Amino acid sequence: MSTPQLEHVKNLVVGCGLSGMVVAERIASQLGEPVLIIDKRSHIGGNIYDEKDPETGVTVHKYGPHVFHTNSREVWDYLSRFTEWHPFMYRVKAVVDGTEVPVPFNLDSLHTLFPRTMATRIEEKLIASFGFNTDVPILKLRDTKDEDLHLLADFIYEKVFAGYTMKQWGLTAKQLDASVSGRVPVRVGRDDRYFRDTYQAIPAEGYTAMARRMLDHPLVEVRLNANWSDVKGKISYDRLFFTGPIDEFFGYEFGALPYRSLDLQFRNLPREFAQSGPQINFPCNYDFTRQVEYKYYLDEETPHTTISREYPCAYSPGKNEPYYPVLSPENATLYNRYQQLASSLPNTHFLGRLGNYKYYNIDQCVICALRLFNQIGKKEQ
Ligand code: UDP
Repeated sequence: MSTPQLEHVKNLVVGCGLSGMVVAERIASQLGEPVLIIDKRSHIGGNIYDEKDPETGVTVHKYGPHVFHTNSREVWDYLSRFTEWHPFMYRVKAVVDGTEVPVPFNLDSLHTLFPRTMATRIEEKLIASFGFNTDVPILKLRDTKDEDLHLLADFIYEKVFAGYTMKQWGLTAKQLDASVSGRVPVRVGRDDRYFRDTYQAIPAEGYTAMARRMLDHPLVEVRLNANWSDVKGKISYDRLFFTGPIDEFFGYEFGALPYRSLDLQFRNLPREFAQSGPQINFPCNYDFTRQVEYKYYLDEETPHTTISREYPCAYSPGKNEPYYPVLSPENATLYNRYQQLASSLPNTHFLGRLGNYKYYNIDQCVICALRLFNQIGKKEQ
């Protein structure tokens, strides 16, 4: 019996999400080298994948809401090679005591929920302490000594953060790295946008169309429904780029890194709109964290609508998908052990949310992948 031939590729990318696609695109277009990119799913794009719901015609994000925002001109210019943009400033509301108020909690949220004289007094104190139009992390606001500001901080913490964070992570904001709750600050101003970045938009034809163009190069081969565990040992490579969970790659040698997963429930409704805006958060009600109505993203005019509700849960390999690394001091220590192991492997690079165990936004995935590509070019010159 002859032994099966080992397939050889110059560059193997595991995972066809944004990080993997950026590296593949760069290697093919800039180094002129062939790349094989594999993904266990049946589609490209990883978690930015979107598709039109066949019933409503609304472009839905199959892995939950992805709204692009960045201050990086480099990222904006890079992605603009593959897509036109639909300018879009995200606005989110949270239901607090039955009323929808802007999140980040801002001065309008304050005036909606507090009696007039009290709100005015607190507003003045906020501006005097932090300056007008500033963003203050909730954990920092809770440290203030002033009685009024402390009352406000406790109110916001309880009504906006405590329930949402417990649902989302199974932990309190204090048990998580401060950067997690810091993503959504308290705003001492009236800007009601979720993000304040220079560039904010949705790919005009959707993320999947953008992904398709990124991969549209004769030197890039995409193989779907291809699991790393099935491919391992059957393909040899000069370079490997791994975007899956780093602990899984090393066979959980030091123990499993925790990730959070989501059970996303989509619903089509036979009416034009379901809610007042694209995202409503429910910190204190229900088991889901937020409800997203996707037609707002691309301003799609359809008679019916599609929404999703997100029910967070623990990640369990083989049962659901890892969406978020759980940033805590213990998990950072565990990740560092894996990272040390990773850095000792020749020609093997880890990237993306799961490979780097970092809570990356879309733009950070692109920046890290572009940086990694530049390092490789330099190292090998
Ligand atoms: N958060 C919260 N209440 C909210 C919105 C956010 O407590 O109404 C906290 C929560 O811990 C959440 C984190 O802020 O996980 C980051 O929120 P973001 O909207 O950035 O989450 P993502 O869109 O990445 O899931």
